[in-house]
Amino acid sequence: MAATDSLSPAPTIDSPRGKALADAAAAVLPGGVNSATRYIGEPYAFTAAEGPWVTDLDGRRYLDYHAAFGAILLGHNSPIVNDAVASTIGGLDLMGIGVTELEVQLARRVIDVVPSAEMTISTMSGSEAVAQAVRLARAATGRRYLVKVQGGFHGWNGSVARNVISAPDKAYGRDPLSAGILDEVVDGTLIGEFNDLSSIEELFARYPEQIAAVITEPIPHNVGALVPTQEFVTGLRQLTTEHGAVLVFDEVITGFRHALGGYQEICGVTPDLTTFGKGMANGMPIGGLAGRRDLMERFDGRNGDVLLAGTFNGNPLSSVAAIATIDYLHANPDFYTRTHALGERMRAGLQVIVDELGLRATVAGFGGVFCVYFAEGPIRGYRDLLRNDGNAYVTFHRRMIEAGHLMLPLALKRNHISGAHTEQDVDSTLDAARTVLKGMQADGIAR
Ligand code: PLP
Repeated sequence: MAATDSLSPAPTIDSPRGKALADAAAAVLPGGVNSATRYIGEPYAFTAAEGPWVTDLDGRRYLDYHAAFGAILLGHNSPIVNDAVASTIGGLDLMGIGVTELEVQLARRVIDVVPSAEMTISTMSGSEAVAQAVRLARAATGRRYLVKVQGGFHGWNGSVARNVISAPDKAYGRDPLSAGILDEVVDGTLIGEFNDLSSIEELFARYPEQIAAVITEPIPHNVGALVPTQEFVTGLRQLTTEHGAVLVFDEVITGFRHALGGYQEICGVTPDLTTFGKGMANGMPIGGLAGRRDLMERFDGRNGDVLLAGTFNGNPLSSVAAIATIDYLHANPDFYTRTHALGERMRAGLQVIVDELGLRATVAGFGGVFCVYFAEGPIRGYRDLLRNDGNAYVTFHRRMIEAGHLMLPLALKRNHISGAHTEQDVDSTLDAARTVLKGMQADGIAR
């Protein structure tokens, strides 16, 4: 079974109401969902969320580690964010002309906390932020190619939508995520290997003065958690500077989650541009791009040359939600000590179970993010992930859901601990994991 398979055994969750809604949805929404990877079968639909808990349409409660693909950071329905949003409703709504105080306040906060941010813009999603970053890098360098790593995901734009969770025969080859992307757009993006600087060096050697930007998640969480070596991130900075290319850190997941200033604050490497989204507004729609002033000024509609447009960019509700989230994190730095400690507790506990059972598995993660690869370590890059047993990975998540712990049962998906999880939550998840992994071993699924 390869790294990329998403098989799971027959579900045992009885969901008549969820199933009825899923069937109704399938008649009016393609695939019954509004984003392709949301369809997981049971449980089909949710009706409530609070703190670390979510409730499905049939009334079952789950401890949530999916966290809306990482968009929930403080916990579901955080009163801090909800109150800020509620206090804004009824005042100024969307103007679409001029600027609001909230937009300036948000921009100042981002610039204060993110090392690479000299100027910033707001978008409505991470994909939009990435699209702007790619276009800006190409405009600023006058070059064609973009470099991303195999396994990195940067949203749905044509330029980046290739080579994410590729099957072994497609990895490092030509593997677009979608039909309908022009060939020249797919081919305008080159593929390297995470944590392998020589793979990026080779691309610079093969395409001299043609590479506009290297874009990477500083920790590729879209394939679980590949933690970078310091040599790799420092080397990326040196290589891009040497070759006149723009270094983009896609911190849509890592930003605000691992540290207020993102993973760049932790590794001490400052990219030219940084993209944000997800947890930044704790579940309200937002994205953002920040970076060097000379680059960002190209978005200036008066004398710049890169188009910045978006009816909902910087809207008051998203802005105030992001301000409230950032202010909370700023005033409560123990958020990071707590979530990192809970992440450590989870990883250490999983490691004990894996060792006790003698499983060929590797516990991985950073901060509050964790996953279990069903492969021997070390797991440094995508090449190592080709050894992962995809059926065991997905079955583990599927059976954890059945035990009341929501982990997305799709290939290589990670788990997130939010500010609302407690030590007791982690311990109850570990108890469930022990039972599930023992059962998988008894069934011959985990070895
Ligand atoms: N960049 C990264 C690292 C992501 O994980 C994602 C989404 O999963 C995106 C960009 C795209 O963000 P959005 O889904 O908000 O468009």
